[in-house]
Parts: sequence; structure tokens; C-alpha cells
Amino acid sequence: MTDLHDLAAKVIAEGEGPRLPTPSPVDRTTIRHWTEAMGDTNPRYQGPDAIAPPAMIQVWSMDGLNGRKRTRAPLDDLLDALDAAGYTGVVATNCEHIYHRPLVPGEELTSATRTTDMTGLKKTALGDGYFVTWQVTWYAQDEPVAEMIFRLLKFRPREERSPSEGRKPYPLRPAVNRDTEFFWEGARSGELRIQKCGDCGELRHPPGPVCPSCRSVKRTYAVAAGTGVVYSYVVHHNPPVPGRETPFVVAVVELPEGVRIVGNVVDCAPAEVEIGMPVRVTFREMDDELTLPLWTPGES
Ligand code: ZN
Repeated sequence: MTDLHDLAAKVIAEGEGPRLPTPSPVDRTTIRHWTEAMGDTNPRYQGPDAIAPPAMIQVWSMDGLNGRKRTRAPLDDLLDALDAAGYTGVVATNCEHIYHRPLVPGEELTSATRTTDMTGLKKTALGDGYFVTWQVTWYAQDEPVAEMIFRLLKFRPREERSPSEGRKPYPLRPAVNRDTEFFWEGARSGELRIQKCGDCGELRHPPGPVCPSCRSVKRTYAVAAGTGVVYSYVVHHNPPVPGRETPFVVAVVELPEGVRIVGNVVDCAPAEVEIGMPVRVTFREMDDELTLPLWTPGES
């Protein structure tokens, strides 16, 4: 795909795009909402001499759901060309922040984007694709105050199998990788498997590569009894979700084994679900490959 590389070279050669003003200045209200949402109680972010949490930097240039009329950047041409060439999948792979100094309420910022790299074609577990890297610099007047280096994989989603080969694939597919494979294999064989540290024996969910308690990378699993209680839940009404009829319930289920797991509560009206409700796991074949653990009302 030489033309994609040619376009990338052209976009990279254009260097940094125009400095666009952020929608609003750095402000205390947004800082308060952010620190509350993050549970960050650092006193530096509160009171009359508050600074903005550095990690908020991208917040200041977010356009919001209704968006301003965004000025197109050369990067958009490259991403559009990748879409047009069939690399429609997108997943963020890296994000690095650099903070040059703290920001204080009232500061007006601009941000500018520069595309720095495109590599590919690469084979990945998600499909073949290109890694595109760009850098955003935030300025207060002419002073660079923060930078972000961001990398995306734009990939060609793997072909779905034709219907003659089996049932239509369920559109919402979990990410199956070396850390989570055992869980999905378990679901296919009717077991609710919970990852267990191979050294200290602690159970953990969702699965991950390292034990948060003893840092061991040895892992095994335990088979859970399959019972639990609804610890928390939401009823999803909107937006529409492919393969699902709304409304449906997404719950955090607490298992007697001591971990919590996210799943749908089925076989009962969403209005009947409540916190503390006993549930039992059930395994549903969604297509030829995917079995999902779901939760039905159970005995207390
Ligand atoms: Zn451990």
C-alpha cells in the first residue's frame, strides 16, 4: 500500500498543525468534577491556590459530545484514507504524557497536533494494520506546557465466517488473549473459572498477568460455585447495541469466593433486579465459538 505510506510521509512532512484554542479555560469546576470522579483527594487540586491535575491535560481540549466545528487536521486525512482502504478497526495502543509545568485555573490554552510516524503493514492478533503515532502539544501563549504522544492501531477486522460455516457470529466479542483464554474455555465447558495466583493463591478477576498481592506471574484458576449476589447494576436503555435488545441489565456480581464479576442478568425483567439479589450463573452459546456466562435469579 504505497499510497498510504506516501500520504503518511506527506502528512508527517507538514509538521505541526495550527494551534487551536481549547473550548474553555482551565477552571475549578471541571477540576472538582474530575478529582471527584477519579477519587483523587490530593490537596494541591483544591482550595484557592489549586493547580490542575496534570493528567487532566487532554480534558481541556475535549470538544464535547456536540462538538465545536473542529478544524480538520492533516492527520484526519490519513485516518480517513486508512478507513477507506479497509483498515476500519481502531484501538489505542500507547499514550504518554509529558508535563512541563502545572496549570492554574483561568489559563487559556491552545493545542496543536503533529503526525510523527506510521508503520505497517503489521500482522496483529486483531488483524493486519498500521500503527499511527502523533503528538499533541498544549501551549499557554507560546509556552509549551504539556505534550501527549498517542499511538493507534488502525486494523482490518478479520473476515467473519460465512453463514454456511455456522451460526452468524455474535457481534459483541470479548478480547481473548493469553490472560483471559482460560476463562472463555471454561465458559465453553460450563465452568466459571476465576484466576488464582500460582504462588500466594489469591483469587483475582478480571484476569491479568501479575498477582497484585505478591507480584507473581504464576497463575492458575479455581472453578467458582456459580452463585453470587448483585453487588451493583445498571439498566442499559440507550444507545442501541448490536446483537442485543434493550433494555438489559449489566450487573456487578459478588461471588462467595470473594471476587466480583461483570455480567448480564437475564430471565427476569430489569425492574425486578435489585442490589443483594441472589443470582446463579448460566452459560449461553452466543455462536459457534463464544459462550457467555450470564446470571439468572437464584435461590438465596
Ligand atoms: Zn500472589
